[in-house]
Amino acid sequence: MTERDPCERCEELLQGYLDRELVQAEVDEAERHLNGCIYCRRRYRFEATLRRYIRVTASERMPEGLRAKLIELRQLPGA
Ligand SMILES: [Zn+2]
Repeated sequence: MTERDPCERCEELLQGYLDRELVQAEVDEAERHLNGCIYCRRRYRFEATLRRYIRVTASERMPEGLRAKLIELRQLPGA
């Protein structure tokens, strides 16, 4: 059995956290980790900013190429 990296667990929670899809216990868990981990907090801020940007640009008319580029930048498999 391998010890799980708390940052890995946080990364799992992060997408759901940003999409507000987590149950309260998971939100607490994610926030507890984000409060104590600079690395994940940075990543969270980056993801949150990126999402806001994508939402704004997606609501305006965006050239298909740029949109594809942004999605590619997120590097999320299946997104
Ligand atoms: Zn972390």
